[in-house]
Amino acid sequence: MPRSSYWEQTTFLRSPDVAIIGAGLTGLQAALELKRRQPDLDVLVMERAAIPRGASTRNAGFACFGGPTELLADLDAYGPESMADTVRKRFAGIKALEKNFAHRDIDWVKDGGYEVIDDAEIITQVRNRLPELNALLREVTGLEETWVEVTETNFLKSWTDHAAPPSSLLLHNPLEAQLHPGKLVTLLLNDCHRAGIRFLFGGEVESLEGGAAGAVKIRGAAWGTLHASQVLVTVNAFARKLLPTDFPEEIRPVRNQILLSDPLPDFKLRGCYHYHEGYVYFRNVGNDRLLIGGARHKAGASSETDLFGPNGVPEAYLLEKLNEWFPGRTWTDADFPTRWSGIIAQGDGKSPVLRYASDNVLVAGRLAGMGVALSADLGRRAAEKLLETTTNRP
Ligand SMILES: Cc1cc2nc3c(=O)[nH]c(=O)nc-3n(C[C@H](O)[C@H](O)[C@H](O)COP(=O)(O)OP(=O)(O)OC[C@H]3O[C@@H](n4cnc5c(N)ncnc54)[C@H](O)[C@@H]3O)c2cc1C
Repeated sequence: MPRSSYWEQTTFLRSPDVAIIGAGLTGLQAALELKRRQPDLDVLVMERAAIPRGASTRNAGFACFGGPTELLADLDAYGPESMADTVRKRFAGIKALEKNFAHRDIDWVKDGGYEVIDDAEIITQVRNRLPELNALLREVTGLEETWVEVTETNFLKSWTDHAAPPSSLLLHNPLEAQLHPGKLVTLLLNDCHRAGIRFLFGGEVESLEGGAAGAVKIRGAAWGTLHASQVLVTVNAFARKLLPTDFPEEIRPVRNQILLSDPLPDFKLRGCYHYHEGYVYFRNVGNDRLLIGGARHKAGASSETDLFGPNGVPEAYLLEKLNEWFPGRTWTDADFPTRWSGIIAQGDGKSPVLRYASDNVLVAGRLAGMGVALSADLGRRAAEKLLETTTNRP
């Protein structure tokens, strides 16, 4: 790295009041919230890649709160209050997205969410427990029955000319929606630029050292050392490298695979579909493409990584499920020329982490598979927490 010029030091590399590490949904929305509350604050977002390269631009684009098999598993694991509270936060996030962004260019379509269940034993269990689940969700969604069994659906009608209907239970809620995650992040970046938020793209933060306000050190090969009054770490699944070893919360990277078809003839499927506690998910993209992803539960230890890359095991399983569900057509790898991976942050429990890692270094992340709905609230709470303690401003 060459020595920085005085001109660079006093502009691009100027030490900010708040440095936000990671330009994903959480970091960008936290930056906007900081500026909204305190317009004179100097906010710098630092992103390792040329474009935001985390989960926010590589997800499936579901604005969702979870299917019945996932919610019933949460109910058993964490109890009714915790399950309802998790849905409440996700549902609030969906409503906020709808209010703030649905009218803008993010391809927002509210066709609702579905869950497909194709295991006879689980079908019986879910049918028996659906009244209990709906009763718990009633005060959250305001609907008498949030999830209802459906028979006449686009799922069953898809490829009806040549496909036998699958023997499955299909449940629907009218509240979930889909969007284009790349367009949402682009729009947030534009809003940040308009609000006067600064950016440093293309340089990885390699280490952080907490300290007094104004003395937090941010090191990276692309700039050397920057100082900030406060740092907000929103790198989600990539957080471990930047956290002290005694950070108490588990933040575990898990890789997910996504397959996207070329345009398909006679394609009628619409909506966001969950399968097997959300481990598998699929949706339409536009009028004629199918996106399917997930199956990390089939990948075992090979999915426990923060490195992008393909994984033949979950990818083969996704094709296998399509061939089961839509047997009138043979699905092969060739149907999905576009495929990518993304890294989610898992941990113990369903709630995101919001906690100081060291003096003036706050961590906001671990949004698992629901960050589209949850990131606005987490970003807002992170901004509030930072502003409670920002005292040493230039
Ligand atoms: C395949 C997949 C499908 C998903 N589907 C859905 C879905 O349909 N609905 C839903 O609600 N959620 C979904 N999620 C989860 C959702 O995408 C995430 O919860 C959310 O995007 C997290 O946002 P974030 O801003 O916290 O983190 P990220 O978007 O991961 O952003 C972190 C940013 O930090 C940057 N970074 C990392 N390390 C450093 C460093 N050292 N220095 C500088 N920058 C760094 C990264 O490049 C990245 O841009 C999915 C996730 C994946 C992977």
